[in-house]
Amino acid sequence: MSANRTRILHREPSRDLPVAVGGEGPFVVDSTGKRYLDASGGAAVSCLGHSERRVIDAIKAQLDRLPYAHTGFFTNEPAEALAEHLIARAPEGLGHVYFVSGGSEANETAMKLARQYFYERGETGRRHFIARQQSYHGNTIAALSAGGNAGRRAVYEPILLPVSHIAPCFEYRHRRDDETGEQYAIRAADELEAEILRLGPETVIAFMAETVVGATAGAVPPAPGYFRRIREICDRYGVLLILDEVMSGMGRTGTLYGCEQDGVSPDILTCAKGLGAGYQPIGATILSEKIFDTITGGSGAFQHGFTYIGHATAAAGALAVQQVIEEDGLLENCRAMGEALDARLRDAFGAHPYVGDIRGRGLFRAVELVEDRATKTPFDPALKLHARIKAAAMEQGLMCYPSGGTADGKAGDHVLLAPPFIVGEDHVGLIVERLGAAIS
Ligand code: PLP
Repeated sequence: MSANRTRILHREPSRDLPVAVGGEGPFVVDSTGKRYLDASGGAAVSCLGHSERRVIDAIKAQLDRLPYAHTGFFTNEPAEALAEHLIARAPEGLGHVYFVSGGSEANETAMKLARQYFYERGETGRRHFIARQQSYHGNTIAALSAGGNAGRRAVYEPILLPVSHIAPCFEYRHRRDDETGEQYAIRAADELEAEILRLGPETVIAFMAETVVGATAGAVPPAPGYFRRIREICDRYGVLLILDEVMSGMGRTGTLYGCEQDGVSPDILTCAKGLGAGYQPIGATILSEKIFDTITGGSGAFQHGFTYIGHATAAAGALAVQQVIEEDGLLENCRAMGEALDARLRDAFGAHPYVGDIRGRGLFRAVELVEDRATKTPFDPALKLHARIKAAAMEQGLMCYPSGGTADGKAGDHVLLAPPFIVGEDHVGLIVERLGAAIS
């Protein structure tokens, strides 16, 4: 639908959007009957595809029982059950959950929890957050302040919180030829220590990072040992570690949380997207026992809240999503199809003159496009290559998630792929075939 036919303020009102009317497994169907293979899960959301009956039935059953009851008065069964489910599988040390409606709220909540933790301890001088360039943590003001995406920040710069940004851990772009991955990881992580010392350790609340960087840089996994070093540095200075797994969590990388593969546990972990798989809007901020005990043993109340926290129907939907993932062994399929997708991408694009890098974990993969493979020079952002690839892919009946490079040339255009965990070899083949047609 274009601007003159819609009353909705869409992100780019001048763009014609097809109208989505149906879903069949990994396909979305528009009002003309055209089918789109969803190779990006929307924005890494729809991990079960678009027609999972067990989730739909669980949501309907909850609606029949009780859609919603305000948490100022009640707790509810599905939210309690979902919390139990998540904590039983959470990284070590995490013991409680705060349910919200999406990723930005989860990160906003994480930042406020971290600040209140130090407030209760009497360490009120702690006021700084440190995050990374080329990261995305959401669009509310604190989450946007933590994000390191210059394009998203520009309009709001004067009203953002003062968050420092260190360099990302991005081997393809920043590892020197004379370094191993492990040596580079130490060098990249040590930037955090330098920044903590520059600010004064007694003023720093937390370091916040995406475990595997999603949309802004394109499925960038950390170099080996990076997060273990980060954990050590945070512990040395009493700084909290917040891992944003809004995109990389809930199985997307082939394990429930990306950080399991890096051998670290954060103090706070945020997730959303795949938690409700798009069947319901829901996010979660999962916190350590230490933070929970400090806040509840201090002023007793977390000074925060949203109307829809712990929403019963959203929780029932998310619990059903997580149960389906386990019942159907979908993490195993995510790992197997992730390997298959990686292999097919390398076959198709490994020698392509404009493909600089193919990377990722599980069903969280990306292809980075460059004008010159030898120098890794990105295409001119003014070409808006990513937007053209997205449009060409939609023509081909493929949903993928391309993003632009940065104006400073530190990152190129890339195409993020995050298909549902239910895909098989045929779908993987079709994704690569249609992407190839869109790119050429
Ligand atoms: N954090 C990360 C890593 C994300 O990818 C996103 C969304 O893309 C967010 C936070 C914000 O989530 P939401 O759009 O649900 O507010």
